[in-house]
Amino acid sequence: MLTGTVQGVGFRPFVFRLAKALGLRGRVRNDAAGVTVEAFGPPEALAELTRRLVSDCPPAAAVASLHDAAIPYEPPTGFEIVESAASAERRVAIPPDLATCPACAREVADPADRRHRYPFTNCTDCGPRFTIALGAPYDRPATTMAGFTMCPACAAEYADPQDRRFHAQPNACPACGPRLRLADAAGRPVEGDPLALAAAALRAGRILAVKGIGGFHLACDATSTAAVALLRQRKRRDEKPLAVMVAGLSAARVLAWLDEAEERLLASVERPIVLCRARPAGPLAPEVAPGSPLIGLLLPYAPLHHLLLAEAGRPLVMTSGNLSEEPIAFEDDEALRRLGGIADLFLLHDRPIASRCDDSVARVVAGQPLVLRRSRGWVPRPIRTAHRFTRPVLAAGAQLKNTFCLARGDEAVLGPHVGDLDNLETYAAYEAAVARLEAFLELRPELLACDLHPLYLSTRYARERAAAGSLQLVEVQHHHAHAASAMAEHHLDGPVLALCWDGTGLGPDGTAWGGELLLVEPHRYQRLATFRPLPLAGGERAIRHPWRLALAALLDAFDGAPPLERLPLFDGIAPAELQVVRRLVERRIQAPLAHGAGRAFDAAGALALGRADSRYEGQVALALDNAAAGGAAEAGAYPFQVAEAGALEELDLRPLWRALAADVQAGAPAGLMSVRFHQALAAGGAALVRRAADRVGRLPVVLTGGCFQNARLAEGILRELSGAFAVYTHAHVPPGDGGLALGQALVADAVARRG
Ligand SMILES: [Zn+2]
Ligand SMILES: [Zn+2]
Repeated sequence: MLTGTVQGVGFRPFVFRLAKALGLRGRVRNDAAGVTVEAFGPPEALAELTRRLVSDCPPAAAVASLHDAAIPYEPPTGFEIVESAASAERRVAIPPDLATCPACAREVADPADRRHRYPFTNCTDCGPRFTIALGAPYDRPATTMAGFTMCPACAAEYADPQDRRFHAQPNACPACGPRLRLADAAGRPVEGDPLALAAAALRAGRILAVKGIGGFHLACDATSTAAVALLRQRKRRDEKPLAVMVAGLSAARVLAWLDEAEERLLASVERPIVLCRARPAGPLAPEVAPGSPLIGLLLPYAPLHHLLLAEAGRPLVMTSGNLSEEPIAFEDDEALRRLGGIADLFLLHDRPIASRCDDSVARVVAGQPLVLRRSRGWVPRPIRTAHRFTRPVLAAGAQLKNTFCLARGDEAVLGPHVGDLDNLETYAAYEAAVARLEAFLELRPELLACDLHPLYLSTRYARERAAAGSLQLVEVQHHHAHAASAMAEHHLDGPVLALCWDGTGLGPDGTAWGGELLLVEPHRYQRLATFRPLPLAGGERAIRHPWRLALAALLDAFDGAPPLERLPLFDGIAPAELQVVRRLVERRIQAPLAHGAGRAFDAAGALALGRADSRYEGQVALALDNAAAGGAAEAGAYPFQVAEAGALEELDLRPLWRALAADVQAGAPAGLMSVRFHQALAAGGAALVRRAADRVGRLPVVLTGGCFQNARLAEGILRELSGAFAVYTHAHVPPGDGGLALGQALVADAVARRG
C-alpha cells in the first residue's frame, strides 16, 4: 500500500513492468488513498519489489509512505492492472504538470518517429495535468483533451499496460491531436509552417506570444539588445529581470555558473525558473537583467519549447504574457486582446488551457532548493501536515504575491500564483482560481482564514464569504501566519522561535510589523523582539523612494543632526524636498513608524549605493545584496545593539547607520559595505534568538518572511546559529507572502479547535 503522488504519473505501468521483470504474479490498482500492490512470489523477489517501488519510481512520482503486510495466498495467473471503481479515485488530487521526459523529447527530435516535431507529445511520465483538467476525477473526458478522439495507434498505446502511454490521458499524435497555428497581432492566420515561421521571426528580432502549458509567454531573442529593449518598452517593464529559456543544461552552463544543486533544480520535473549567478560577458543582451549578477534561467518543459529553442538556435527570453501587474493571459481571445500591442505574432494551438498557472521561481540557498514562487509544476501537489485539520479550511492569503490554500485531513494544497491583488482583473482571476480548485478537490470550506489587514482584497473576499455562508472566520496576524507556514512545512508542533522578517504586515496594535521574533504555537504567539522602528515619511512613498528611509535612519542615528555632506545619495535631492521630508520625520506627520526588516535593507541600499528610488518594491535592497558579490567575508560586520523596549527587545541599528555613513563618506567600495551590512543583520538576528532562548528555552528556530529569499542573510543566520539550535528554513513553500496562506490555514484551524 503506497501513498503520495502515485496516480496520474505512470505508477501502475511502472509496477506492472517491475513485477513482470521480477517474475512475480499479482495485481496493482489505484484506490482512494494511493496505490495497492498485491504480489506473490519468492521472498527475495518480494523484498526486491518493495525496495525498487521506492528507489526506481517514475520521475514525477513521490512515495510518501509504503506499508507492507502479508496477505492470503491467492495469486492470479499473471500480473495485472486492475481497474478501480471511479468513486475510489475521486478523493485523489490531480497531479501537477510534468516537464517533457527524455523519451518523449527524443521522439520529437527523431525524424523517423511518428511524433517527429509534434509539439503535444506526452506520456505517463510527462505532459500537462493540472492545467488541462476540468474536474475530478482526472481522466480524458474531464480534460481539455475531451474534444480530440484518439487515432487507432494512440488508442492502442493507451490500452497497452506495457506501453509508456498506458492511460496517459493527454496522449496524442499528429494524426489525432491538437495542432499549432500562427496568427498576426490582429489574429489573422499566417500561412506556412507555424513552427519554422515562428523561429524565423524570433531570429529576426520580433516578439512572439507563445501559448504554453499554464498561459502565454512573450518570447524574443535573448541575445539581441534591440529585441529585448523593444519587449521591455512594449510590456512597460523597465528594470525587472526577464527569465531566459535555454535548450539544455550545457546551454545553461554557458550563461551561468551552476553548482550541482542548481543543475538538479533546473532539470527537475517541476522545471522552475532558477535564479543563478550570471557569467559576465556572456552572449545575453545586458537588457535581460540590467545591473543584476543573477539571471533567471529555465529549461524547456513542453515539446513546443524544445522545438522552438532548437529551431531558433539561441536562448530566448520567456516572460509571462501580460502587461506588468496583470494576470498572465491563458485564453486565445484574451491573449490577442491584451497582448496584441506587445507581440508581432502569436503561436497558438487548439488545446485549451483550463487553469492559468505561471512559471514557478526557485533558487538554491545554503545548498538546498528554495521555492520563491510556487506555481506550475507544484500546484496542486498536496503538502502533508503533522497537524490534522478538524474541518475543511480555505485560507485567503495575502495582498501581494497571493496564493490561497485549501486544507483538510492532514493535507494542504496551495493554489497557483495569482499575483498582486490590486486590480480588478487579478481579483477576478483570484475568485476563479479559488472556485476551480475547490471544485477539483471537492472541498467545501467550513472555516475561513485571512490576514488582519482590513484593506487586503483577500481579507475582503474572506469576510464576504464568511458572512454569506455563515461560516467562522479567523483573522490571522501576518507574521504568526509566516511562522506557522514554516512549521507546517517542517512538521513542527511548536513552540518555536520564529524570526519573521519581511517588508510589512499589520500588527494587532495597528502598527506595521516586519522585523519580528515571535514565540509561536499554532494557536497563539507572543512577540519577543522587533526592529527599532523607522518613520516612513509619506507612508508608502517611502518604499518607492528609499532615500526617505535613509534620511529617517540618519536623523535617528545622529539625534536629529546627521552629516549629509559627502553622501552622494542626497546630491540629487532638491533641498526643498529634503526639508519637507525632514520635517515630516521630525514632527511625525504622515510618517507612521514601521518595524519591517525590509525597510532597513532599503535604507542601507539607498545609502551605500547612492540609489534614491526603487522602480519596484525591494529593488534597491536586491541591488545591495547583489553588490555583496564584490566583497569578502573578512570585511567584518557593522556594530548594532540590542535594547530593552518595555516588554520587548529591540534590534537597534543606530550604530550601524553611523558606521555605514562614515564608510560612504570615506569612499568605501559598495561590496565591502554590503557584506558588513548583511553580516550585521545576520549577527543581530542571531543575537535576538540567543537572548530569547535564555528566557524561554532553546527551542527550534524557523526563519521565515520575504527577507529570507536573500541567500546571504539566510546563510549568515544559519552559520551563526548552527550547532546551538535546530534551524529550519523554507524549501517547497515560499518564505514570502506566496507561502502565507498555508500558515493562515494552520492557525485558523488551531484557533477554531480551541473555541
Ligand atoms: Zn514522456
Ligand atoms: Zn494519434
